[in-house]
Amino acid sequence: PYAAIGVEINVDTVSAVATDLAGERLLTWRRSFSGGDSVNQGVAGVGAIIRRVVSRMAKEERQVLGLAVAVPGLIDVQGTVRIAPNLGWHDADIGGDLAKALRDPGFPIQVDNDANLGALAEQRFGAHAGASDLVYLTGELGVGAGIILDGRLRRGGRGYSGEIGHVQVDPEGPACHCGRRGCLEAMAGIGAVLRRDPSPAEIQVEVEEVVRLARAGDAETVGNLGAVGRSLGVGVSILANLLNPEVVILGGYYVPLAPWLLPAVHEEVAARVIASEAGGVQVVASTLGYDAAALGGAARVLDSVDSGRLPG
Ligand code: BGC
Ligand code: ZN
Repeated sequence: PYAAIGVEINVDTVSAVATDLAGERLLTWRRSFSGGDSVNQGVAGVGAIIRRVVSRMAKEERQVLGLAVAVPGLIDVQGTVRIAPNLGWHDADIGGDLAKALRDPGFPIQVDNDANLGALAEQRFGAHAGASDLVYLTGELGVGAGIILDGRLRRGGRGYSGEIGHVQVDPEGPACHCGRRGCLEAMAGIGAVLRRDPSPAEIQVEVEEVVRLARAGDAETVGNLGAVGRSLGVGVSILANLLNPEVVILGGYYVPLAPWLLPAVHEEVAARVIASEAGGVQVVASTLGYDAAALGGAARVLDSVDSGRLPG
């Protein structure tokens, strides 16, 4: 039997998913991670995780068909990480470095943007699977979109489409890690939810704390989530006016925060999207959880093999 592997490198975690040819999960793994210091450290850490996944598959006598790695940044069509603003990575050949770290693994390694792979996961496995026009909008330290139109992931000329996180929504807004000001992710990313620039190790626990406070009805927390939701609604409205997706799916840390973000998002969308009275856009939380991009990596591997032609 065969296996496809997807891995997501995030600012604060690494996730890995392996599936069989039908896309059934064989393994799920998530670990905190701080690869932000240097590309080399990052690659060494991620390489060690991938080796363990590969050896598990070998033990189960599964042949690995390929690996796709999600990175939170701009990946060019050759698979080079050109800019990963929240990792501080530039012009990094992560695929090549990982192949070396894995000592020529014997299967292809692809590198892709995290939101793009999240969108592929939604298209294949999500609650809106099969939708021909959807946008997956991931909320991490950064914010990014994966765009599926007419059934296909749309990458743009060099592969950098979907950078809604760096669309300016407030010229006077806070500084963004990309060096600009008032970008959507500075207004509606996890830094805005936490109201400070968190260190990677703290992000997940702090988001859980925000959820706890919001559940308890803490007015300040709920008020801030409303403000973040309004900014997020501005971003979703831009996507909806421009692309007319059937559905915008919020992923990453937006999922646990959705009960407090979505009401404000829906209000902004109703006010801002010209098509809203003409059969507008649905905005929902992802059902795939934190490892959507890793699962999408496996989906990308499955998309790139012609399973009818595999021996056995
Ligand atoms: C990056 C995007 C990424 C998003 C979510 C942004 O800062 O520029 O490429 O998809 O964060 O991780
Ligand atoms: Zn920016």
